[in-house]
Amino acid sequence: ATATRSSLRIGLIPADGIGREVIPAARRTLEALGSDLPKLEFHDLLAGFDLFTKTGAALPNETIDIEGGCDAALFGAVSSPSRKVAGYSSPIVALRKELDLYANIRPVVSVEKPSVDLVVVRENTECLYVKQETLTHTDSGREARATRLITERASRRIGTMAFELALARPRKQVTIIHKSNVLSVTDGLFRETVRAVPRLPGVSGRFDSVAIAEQIVDSAVYRLFREPEIYDVMVAPNLYGDILSDAAAALVGSLGLVPSVNAGDSFVMGEPVHGSAPDIEGQGIANPLAAIRSAALMLRHLKYEDAADRIDTAVNHVIREGRVLTPDLGGKSKTDEVVEAVLRRL
Ligand code: ATP
Ligand code: MG
Repeated sequence: ATATRSSLRIGLIPADGIGREVIPAARRTLEALGSDLPKLEFHDLLAGFDLFTKTGAALPNETIDIEGGCDAALFGAVSSPSRKVAGYSSPIVALRKELDLYANIRPVVSVEKPSVDLVVVRENTECLYVKQETLTHTDSGREARATRLITERASRRIGTMAFELALARPRKQVTIIHKSNVLSVTDGLFRETVRAVPRLPGVSGRFDSVAIAEQIVDSAVYRLFREPEIYDVMVAPNLYGDILSDAAAALVGSLGLVPSVNAGDSFVMGEPVHGSAPDIEGQGIANPLAAIRSAALMLRHLKYEDAADRIDTAVNHVIREGRVLTPDLGGKSKTDEVVEAVLRRL
């Protein structure tokens, strides 16, 4: 991806719940950037649990083929049914796999103290999310098993992504999150492979300025709450990364603030970290800032750094000012009013 294209085609996949409220907010923000970006083309695409209940398909082929017609995408959220529904599996998990979006990058930054400025880099394709579960009936009751897959290839590429990100940040530190004291084979492989990234053939000194630390996942959560300022880039296998990034979101006030991108070598998809939030769906009070920041992060990965900076500056201003905020941040404003406030600042 370069910043020289004549148009920028963005797929919009609002999917379920408040995804349908926050993705339009992100679109309006992108449209307001004007000449900072090439001509924008939006493509509306379908996915989600609601779609599944209506049509029997959670992820239509047209959406899977997104790379054919789009340069990047924004995804809203999917509802997860609390029990297993025959024939349904999560379209976001499938999309990450289909498009090989192997990294989930989640920056967590506080506008006020305590000062949190970290990025969780979560491996997105394996670990327990290979979803190979079995249930057997034994004489003493049912027995459930799950396969956890860790490969050298996936660990190496997520590790490389983490070192690249750290290199571009002022503190240049990678912390490897693992549990290799207990899971010495799987987590041992992850840890050892990420540690070896700076010594890979072809890397030759590129990451010499990056400091490597490591932390057992449980103590990482503890320290994250006690002294979040010690972390810069945290790289983790899929499940630990999922949990850590929600925990880190709690530190900065609301899930409604935390963006992410799913990134591969050829495509990038912005996605707020929050879910479909069924408890507030349809009330017009969803915080749009996580989705708006996800649009900024998507632009950053496409190398439109100035446009991304403009969005982030406007969002930070609205948060710091504290006058127009949704209820999750203690305010009384509606989604649309927050979007207007961001647009005015832009
Ligand atoms: P899902 O299964 O889709 O993840 P969930 O019930 O876990 O749904 P989340 O979206 O993960 O819901 O949200 C957890 C809590 O945070 C909910 O109380 C929700 O209302 C709140 N929340 C999440 N996102 C936002 C947002 N953008 N604005 C306001 N509140 C939010
Ligand atoms: Mg959730």
